[in-house]
Amino acid sequence: MHELTIATALLDQVLEAARQASLRRVIAVEVRCGEARQVVPDALQLAFETVSASTLAAGAALSIVEVPLEARCRHCHRSFRARIDNYVCPGCGRADAELVAGDDIILQSLTGDTWQDGPS
Ligand SMILES: [Zn+2]
Repeated sequence: MHELTIATALLDQVLEAARQASLRRVIAVEVRCGEARQVVPDALQLAFETVSASTLAAGAALSIVEVPLEARCRHCHRSFRARIDNYVCPGCGRADAELVAGDDIILQSLTGDTWQDGPS
């Protein structure tokens, strides 16, 4: 399952970032998902809950921001909103474009409790 693979990779990043920040618990995670990856948000939520269950990211709120596909034409250098099945440049009509956004899954931010925090 596609989302489980993504969730596992995401969890690795989350735990590594949490370790570097000396977090004892991860509360919220924000991830930017490129449209080209065709992630189903509900499926990713569920997969993340599953893989994070016995880690310090268990129960963290995952928010998923979808990043639209953006392409730039190699001929006329125009940037445009592309579709997964359509990279034709609206300026010159050629289908020779490179993706400039929307093709990545990025861990955007992480919120958590540190060991230094007192009880609140
Ligand atoms: Zn063009």
